[in-house]
Amino acid sequence: KAREREMRILVLGLDNAGKTTIMKRLKGEDVHSVSPTLGFDINTLEFDKYKLNMWDVGGQQTIRTYWRNYFEQTDGIIWVVDSADVARLSDCRAELETILMEERLAGASLLVLANKQDLSGALTTESVVEHLALNDMIGKKRHWQVFPSSALAEDHTADVENLLMRSIEWLVHDIA
Ligand code: GDP
Repeated sequence: KAREREMRILVLGLDNAGKTTIMKRLKGEDVHSVSPTLGFDINTLEFDKYKLNMWDVGGQQTIRTYWRNYFEQTDGIIWVVDSADVARLSDCRAELETILMEERLAGASLLVLANKQDLSGALTTESVVEHLALNDMIGKKRHWQVFPSSALAEDHTADVENLLMRSIEWLVHDIA
């Protein structure tokens, strides 16, 4: 019997963007028990015939330097953005630019999640693309896609999960 294919996915972004909450949501766990990620968490998700090993590496400034320890053999990157934290979008852009310059991540597909869409001050996905200048930064050099998400939303839980799953589906199919 053929073994299911494993994919290695890095979940990155500034601290407080919602990375851990998104992971919990994908696993169908309680999203209210989230505490800041200090080391890293590996979350495994079965998707179609694939086993996704998702590395949620903390985003605090002091640990961003350790991100590079996880770059080897990465198939995909999920970059989580707090769409309501406009003040830190330039910081967010700079960090993303740095990791996209990494040789070892050159082949990785990129899924950008414009998270916290439920907050009233949240920028739209189009606006996030503009603020992060994603078209200029990434251009046609790699496959990338942006999806909106509201990982914490209480209402329409099924919609929230569907949308998240559709974004994961895009990533998995792009890698496969
Ligand atoms: P991480 O540091 O990127 O792992 O972020 P966390 O998952 O710990 O989330 C940081 C904070 O943002 C927590 O208080 C979450 O409850 C909150 N949060 C995460 N996602 C959302 C979202 O989509 N909407 C709102 N309103 N809050 C969110």
